[in-house]
Amino acid sequence: MTGQRESNRVEPRHIAIVGAGVIGMATACCLQEDGHRVTVVDRQAPGTACSWGNTGGIGITSIPPLSSPGVLRKVPRWLFDPLGPLALDWRHLPRLAPWLLRFVRAGRMEEVERITDALNALLSPCYEVWRPLFSAAGLDNLVHHTGVIHLYPDRAAFEADALQWKLRKDRGISFETLDRAALLRMEPDVGPASDFAVYEEVWRHVADPFLIVDGLARHFAAGGGAIRRAAVTGFETSDGRVSALRTEAGEIVADGFVIAAGAWSHRLSRMLGSPAPQESQRGYHVNLPDPGIEVRHIMMDTVGKHAITPMAMGLRLGGTSEFAGLDTPPNWRRARAIVENAKRIFPTLKTEGYSQWAGDRPLLPDSLPVIGPSPHRHNVYYAFGHSHIGLALGAVTGRLVADLVAGRTPGIDLHPFRIDRF
Ligand SMILES: Cc1cc2nc3c(=O)[nH]c(=O)nc-3n(C[C@H](O)[C@H](O)[C@H](O)COP(=O)(O)OP(=O)(O)OC[C@H]3O[C@@H](n4cnc5c(N)ncnc54)[C@H](O)[C@@H]3O)c2cc1C
Repeated sequence: MTGQRESNRVEPRHIAIVGAGVIGMATACCLQEDGHRVTVVDRQAPGTACSWGNTGGIGITSIPPLSSPGVLRKVPRWLFDPLGPLALDWRHLPRLAPWLLRFVRAGRMEEVERITDALNALLSPCYEVWRPLFSAAGLDNLVHHTGVIHLYPDRAAFEADALQWKLRKDRGISFETLDRAALLRMEPDVGPASDFAVYEEVWRHVADPFLIVDGLARHFAAGGGAIRRAAVTGFETSDGRVSALRTEAGEIVADGFVIAAGAWSHRLSRMLGSPAPQESQRGYHVNLPDPGIEVRHIMMDTVGKHAITPMAMGLRLGGTSEFAGLDTPPNWRRARAIVENAKRIFPTLKTEGYSQWAGDRPLLPDSLPVIGPSPHRHNVYYAFGHSHIGLALGAVTGRLVADLVAGRTPGIDLHPFRIDRF
C-alpha cells in the first residue's frame, strides 16, 4: 500500500503532531523515516491515554462496521442487561441523539457494504505495514501470532451472526468453525457456556499495548525526534495555513501539522473549521495477575462483546461500549460486568487482585476513521477516529499521512475517510 513515489526525494520539513498515542507515534516514526524533522506534542506521556489499555489485537479481519441492519432492535436488550455490552448515560442522550441517527443510517445494507470495503482496504495490509516498524523499533518480541478465537454459546448463535461472517467471506477472508471438542483441543479451560467457536489464523496480538507506543517513542527519540509535554489550546493561522500550535507552554512553530489527538481530536478540528461528529465510545479493561487458567489465544466473547488476551502482565479482559460523554468519570460497574462475563466463560477463573482501567475510543458514526488533509488549512492533516482498531491501524495511518505530506499518491483511496464526509 506504499504510496506511489512520483519522486524518491521528499523535501524535509518540520511537522508537529498533536497526540502521542499509537496513531501519533506511528505517524511520527513514518514522517521521520521520510527525513522530516518531527515534534510530537501531548499533555501526557506517550501511550498513556486510550492506547495504554487496549486488548492488543491486530485484528486484520475486523472489517464489519459497528452499525448494521436491525442494530436498533438489539439495543434495548443490551442496555437493560447489567452485564450487557452497551451502556448509556441517559443525561448524555440529548447530545448523543444526532450522532445516533447517523449511526443508525450507517447500518443500512448498502452503507455496510461500502464501509466494510473501506475498512478492508485499511486493515488487510495492516500487519505487513507494521512489521518493518516493529522490527526497526525492536518490538518484534512483543508481537505474538496465535490467531483469534471467537466464542459462541452454540451454533445457533453463530448462525444469528451470519452477516459478520458473510461480509468477511465475500472479501476472501477465510475462517474455520470449531465444535466444542475442537475448541477444547485449542483452549482446554473454556467452560461449557461456549459450545461453538470460529478461528481466524491471521490475527496477531501484542503482549503489552503501552510498551508498543513507548517503544515507538524511544525509537523516534533515538532518531532525533522531539516529544514535548504540553496541552494544545489553539492555533495561529494566516493565509489559509496554520503557522503554530498554541500551547500552555508557548507556541510551537512548524511547516505542517497532524491532528492525532484520539477522542479529543474533534475539539481541535472544529477550531480549524472542520467539525467532526465524534463521540467517546468508552471501554474498560481488567487485568488479572494470576487468573489460574491457561489462555493460549486472544479470544472474543461474542455475548459480552469483550476480548480476552494473554499479556505480559497477566490476563487482560477488555471491551464494552459506554456512551456517557468525554468528560464524565468512569462507571466501574462496567469493569465488574466484564469480570462477571469472564467467569461465565471460564468457571474456574481466579479474579483476586485485579486492576481496572477505562479509556475513550474515538468513534465516528460510520465506524471509519478520519485520515486526510484539511479542506480549509493547506498544511494540516487529520488522523483520528480509529475506534476499536487503532492499534491495528497505527502504521497504515502513519504511512498514509506520510504519503500526503510528501505529496505522494497514497496507495489507498482516502475518499471514504475525508473529514467533510458528514
Ligand atoms: C477496552 C479497549 C480495547 C481495545 N482493544 C483494541 C484492540 O484489541 N485492537 C485495536 O486495534 N484497538 C483496540 N482498541 C482501540 C485503540 O486502543 C484505540 O483506537 C487507539 O488507542 C486510539 O489511539 P489514538 O492515538 O488515536 O488515541 P490516544 O491513545 O487516546 O492518544 C491521543 C493522545 O492525544 C492527546 N491529546 C488530546 N488532546 C490534546 C491536546 N489538546 N493537547 C495535547 N495532547 C492532546 C491525549 O493526551 C492522548 O495522549 C481498544 C480500545 C479500548 C478502550
